Amino acid sequence: MPGTPLLLHACCGPCSLEPLKLLREEGFEPTICWTNPNIQPIEEHEHRLKTLLTWAQEVAHVEVIVAGDPRESWERSVAPAAFDRERRCGACYAIRLKESCRVAREQGFSFISTTLAVSPYQLFDVCGDELVSIAHSYGLTPVWRDFRPYYAEATRESRELGMYRQNYCGCRFSAAEATLERQEARDVRKAAKKHAY
Ligand code: SF4
Repeated sequence: MPGTPLLLHACCGPCSLEPLKLLREEGFEPTICWTNPNIQPIEEHEHRLKTLLTWAQEVAHVEVIVAGDPRESWERSVAPAAFDRERRCGACYAIRLKESCRVAREQGFSFISTTLAVSPYQLFDVCGDELVSIAHSYGLTPVWRDFRPYYAEATRESRELGMYRQNYCGCRFSAAEATLERQEARDVRKAAKKHAY
């Protein structure tokens, strides 16, 4: 018997592996919705989208809807928050989830979810609040699950599949933050090594 249709917003291929599996186990039949105007530069966006499409077609056998890419509106509503992470990411989740909910309504879905709930690097509660309130405003039922315990498995499996795995969330601010964090981690390792002698 086919599962209950659900539109699953996907932020990237590797983050889609476990949510797709778990939602199917729960009795849903997800269709993936791609709308990520946050990913910069555009070549990176294309690379992540291609990774997702290849996996969806060749491995997961799941339909993918490529929805809108409102980059100008991302610049207007998200970029001004710059390095204020909570404000920035909240607005970024909202823009992507609104577009996903619009598509869900248009295509006759009643349930909506997002793969953003798998990454421990996302602001889990902020994202959940956005999903619940936006879904309700569109008359949809949000399916918000804590997929974070499955992140390690997603990492292992995506490596095994040879999928492209990015090292920053998506926007230019997250790229700068990730570079800084890597630099700080290198400095800590260097200092620890020095003290070991
Ligand atoms: S860090 Fe990620 S979620 Fe936050 S604004 Fe940047 S791309 Fe969006």
